[in-house]
Amino acid sequence: MVEQLQRYGVIHSEKVAEVMQTIDRGLFVPEGTAAYVDSPMPIGFNATISAPHMHATCLELLKDYLQPGMHALDVGSGTGYLTACFAIMVGSQGCAVGIEHIPELASWSIKNIEKSAAAPLLKEGALSIHVGDGRLGWPDAAPYDAIHVGAAAPEIPKALIEQLKPGGRLVIPVGTFFQDLQVIDKGEDGSVSVRSETSVRYVPLTSREEQLHG
Ligand code: SAH
Repeated sequence: MVEQLQRYGVIHSEKVAEVMQTIDRGLFVPEGTAAYVDSPMPIGFNATISAPHMHATCLELLKDYLQPGMHALDVGSGTGYLTACFAIMVGSQGCAVGIEHIPELASWSIKNIEKSAAAPLLKEGALSIHVGDGRLGWPDAAPYDAIHVGAAAPEIPKALIEQLKPGGRLVIPVGTFFQDLQVIDKGEDGSVSVRSETSVRYVPLTSREEQLHG
């Protein structure tokens, strides 16, 4: 899978290839799911694990903001796959936080991480998963060098921009039916720049009620 993503030019750094080889996607999908096919897969609760090429794209966009010792936030952490990748990249001196609003998914993601190469980081506390509304971020470990949102927001949540460190980067799908993957950079002076990377299709960043019954 990683070699194919390298061939297609989605993965162009050693760092991203390495982390996607270290964290086995097969441990993060429901039993019987084709883990390595380049497509999103259902994980229950009207959610999906993102396609490998989307995980790779987001890791490429964020890799410079995921250096050892840095702080990373993964909103809508779902399976925990990307949170685990972030944790490996920032290491035991860093901090990787996942927020998921479906409690069952949050506990399942912890089990997945426990089977993976990121298990020691979870045990030490450098990696943590919390149940909550990710639109509010997670102030406890702010400010973050890297913030990733795994669900599409109608607009960029203010709390996430506030919790971004000057010099940090936020990657978030924005829109409802038509969505853009947006890259938000906060300058050292606090100024914010926004650009669109590519068109995407994610599940919505919404309330638990709306996701389960909407
Ligand atoms: N990156 C994850 C994506 C999972 S899909 C993965 O590849 O596994 C998006 C996730 O966002 C779902 O698990 C959904 O439950 C969660 N989500 C949606 N709205 C949310 C909110 N307001 N707060 C926290 N999580 C949310």
